[in-house]
Amino acid sequence: MGAGHEGESVEACVRPLGVARLSVVVGRRTKILATLGPATDRPGVIDELVRGGLDGARINTAHGHPDDWRRQAAALRAASESAGRPVALLVDISGPKLRLLEDVLPREVLVGESVTFVGAEESPDGARGVAWPDLINAVIPGVSEIVIGDGAPRFSVVTTYEGEVRCTCIRKGPVEPRKGIFVTHSRVELPAMGGHEVEHAEIAAELEADFIALSFVRSGQDIRRLRSILDSVGSTARVVAKIERLSAFDALDDILAVSDGVMVARGDLGVQAGVARVPILQKEIIHRAVGDGKLAITATQMLESMITAPAPTRAEATDVANAILDGTSTLMLSAETAVGEHPVEVVRVMGEIALYAQSEPVYQQDIEAPVESRAEALMQSAVLLARQVGAAAIVVPTTSGGSARAAIKYRPQLPLVALCRDPAVARQLALDWGVIPALLEGEADSAETFVELMVSGAIEVAGLRPGDTVVVAYGSTLERPGSTNVIVLRQIAGAGGRTA
Ligand code: PGA
Ligand code: MN
Repeated sequence: MGAGHEGESVEACVRPLGVARLSVVVGRRTKILATLGPATDRPGVIDELVRGGLDGARINTAHGHPDDWRRQAAALRAASESAGRPVALLVDISGPKLRLLEDVLPREVLVGESVTFVGAEESPDGARGVAWPDLINAVIPGVSEIVIGDGAPRFSVVTTYEGEVRCTCIRKGPVEPRKGIFVTHSRVELPAMGGHEVEHAEIAAELEADFIALSFVRSGQDIRRLRSILDSVGSTARVVAKIERLSAFDALDDILAVSDGVMVARGDLGVQAGVARVPILQKEIIHRAVGDGKLAITATQMLESMITAPAPTRAEATDVANAILDGTSTLMLSAETAVGEHPVEVVRVMGEIALYAQSEPVYQQDIEAPVESRAEALMQSAVLLARQVGAAAIVVPTTSGGSARAAIKYRPQLPLVALCRDPAVARQLALDWGVIPALLEGEADSAETFVELMVSGAIEVAGLRPGDTVVVAYGSTLERPGSTNVIVLRQIAGAGGRTA
């Protein structure tokens, strides 16, 4: 087996990673997604982030303009190209978030004060304007509360009168222009894909985003609508539903069925559900997404104090580690990298916490995910085999990414090298837990040379050593998606030797 090919060069077929980066990238199974912004626009920052092991970058359409996003996307692609690593671009469609108008006078409001809100294009004298004509119809006097920003100030709605919503402050805080506003028990829920969202989806497609996240999703219907828009403009981006409304949590099964992943969007979820519920909602959302073989991103305030401070708080380090123990695929940074003082250091710190969090075997429970297809059955066996023989890596060629995802559903606690033909597929695997995506560039004329090609490629990206065993799972019909039907074991031979 393979003897006839000994000495024949199996062309360098996988784009290599620099050795300096291996220690950062290889081994960390939870991925890191950083939000771009003014702090990462400074020269060299994106390059440094990518060299430091960043797996994906988020462009948040709530901020900046299409030309900023184009520039940021180009900078990310260039950094990824020069580092020789696939890095995902996620465009986050900001959705129908209500905001106070620009002309609102900034003022600290105290408990017991009366404040009037008006749904209008301009704030009338003595009132606070919100550009939402439906405000008056949405509130239920005596029941609804109006929440500003992350939860303070907070008002109870007393009465509505001639277009005005009259409230009493029940938690003090600053009222400022452009701050987010949320109505509890609202009679009206804005659609997630109503206005500018369509235009933003088209820009995301133009930027060839690998992932598109949708804010304030209510049900699977919002995601289906996004998908049909993406289909019409030829985007094959993977779709992430942001779970930040209680209605989305209630519809989680419906949403998971039509999404490639979900984001635990703790910021707005905390406003809508109450901060006290966030920890348990996070566990539940991650558990259900991962059990369904979907991506789970945990977001917001993960290392918040590092926006200014040089090191995280103990509580933040513990939060990052706990999200990993909950099973999250990807950790997200928001203001920490977008506007923070230490965008590079915060990614490094997050990576370090992640490595420690995964290192204690007692917490490395494989998720007992159900087996729902032949591909998953085969991959679960490959993961089990890898564990039983103490393999150093699992190697999976993947046309669509599906085989690699089927394997990591069973959380192998070892590197999973996903060898892709299409760079876009490699980028779409960059956020998946435990996957090292790489490009497979050589050709093979038989199953045996194909295995050799894959193993020699994996040596470099997974940092394998002579004597290591690898499990290779592939399809005997080499290029057809979903056709994985062979599992083989290979041992890495000594320097200059061949795989046997
Ligand atoms: P955002 O979403 O940063 O776009 O608001 C995340 C969240 O709400 O937590
Ligand atoms: Mn949000």
